[in-house]
Amino acid sequence: MSLVRNICAVLASGLVLASCASPLAKPQLAGGGERPVVVLISIDGFRADYLDRGVTPNLSRLAAEGAHGAIRPSFPTKTFPNHYSLVTGLRPDRHGIVDNNMIDPEIPDVAFSLSNKAAARDARWWNDGTPIWVSAERAGIRSATMFWPGSEAAIQGVRPSRWLPFKQSMPATARTDQVLAWLDEPAATRPRLITLYFDEVDTAGHYHGPDSTQVAEAAGRTDAAIGRLTEGLKARGLKANLVIVSDHGMAAVASDRVIYIENLASADLGKPLALGAFMTYYPAPGREAEAEAALLVRRPHVTCWRKGEIPARYHFGAHRRVAPIFCLPETGWVITTRAKRPPKGGNHGFDPYSPEMAAIFIGHGPAFARGRATPLTDNVDVYPLLARLLGLAPEPNDGGATLVDAALSR
Ligand code: AMP
Ligand code: ZN
Ligand code: ZN
Repeated sequence: MSLVRNICAVLASGLVLASCASPLAKPQLAGGGERPVVVLISIDGFRADYLDRGVTPNLSRLAAEGAHGAIRPSFPTKTFPNHYSLVTGLRPDRHGIVDNNMIDPEIPDVAFSLSNKAAARDARWWNDGTPIWVSAERAGIRSATMFWPGSEAAIQGVRPSRWLPFKQSMPATARTDQVLAWLDEPAATRPRLITLYFDEVDTAGHYHGPDSTQVAEAAGRTDAAIGRLTEGLKARGLKANLVIVSDHGMAAVASDRVIYIENLASADLGKPLALGAFMTYYPAPGREAEAEAALLVRRPHVTCWRKGEIPARYHFGAHRRVAPIFCLPETGWVITTRAKRPPKGGNHGFDPYSPEMAAIFIGHGPAFARGRATPLTDNVDVYPLLARLLGLAPEPNDGGATLVDAALSR
């Protein structure tokens, strides 16, 4: 192999440098020609230890061949805040998606929720962060999102080149096939950054708990969809850097580990917005002192804080969308009301430092070290890694270089 070709092969492996014009390298490459495609895959609710259950042969192979470890989710350990942290490198307190359910004094009369389609497309909720696809598009790198929270909004005026409205019923294999179809587009429109999102492991975890056969089956189906992707890439001769993550883990909950809001504060003192693995609470106007007196007391299995007094390790409490009072139960305990059915199955939203909340990280492809164990890192460290893989200057972010240093081949 000539020296030029060697250099091109190094550049094609997805490391830091600029383009290599050699036509020799091109047949292997996707989208624009200089670097491998980056596919960011999220398996919602895939707890770090699910990988050891013997039900995900494709993920096990990718982990063994690449870099692999656990990542600590951001606080609170819910889907939207963490997906947005993964693609912005910002903690929820900075990117503003502080929960799946939130209100904002600057966006009056609207409650943000997973089912509020209009809010999902309203960039005002998302504009505090710059997701990696926005930076990519601005740099002339085409992006395509096979679902991702935020991808339906024109954030800072920019949308992915390709995106789809979220549809939970779309089968995992169809999601993979959509990604492959995008990769079959001509070079001029083929994306070089793709996201791919799977949710059935999380759903099974909620309904049946983390140790259920249903979770194992859902993990197996998602694993097969990822196997279909790697086969499809191989069949096309495409080199790709795969970044496979989850947003949080899952903890078992039970009907005998409940904290009733009725026992914490009387209904006239205020209103909870979110309940479950934590409670966000809005005191009624004029009743703030009484609500605080009721909630901010030491009691078993739950701790409540004023928003400004949440412990620093959670990096949470400054954003205007954070509720005045936040209550966090012991992992596995649920705050609920007597009107609701008793909890069963699993939940997340608990302390990100609990092992049950740990998420996975797998990096596979030419840029990644082979057989490398990565240390437990914060999920905001994924963003600098994505920026590096794409050759983009990262936006200001809360991440560090731990994952970049640990996961990439040197
Ligand atoms: P949760 O377990 O409440 O934190 O949220 C998980 C749920 O979020 C999944 O079951 C999905 O149905 C939903 N979800 C994931 N991505 C999106 C999206 N882009 N738009 C709307 N809902 C979504
Ligand atoms: Zn989730
Ligand atoms: Zn969930």
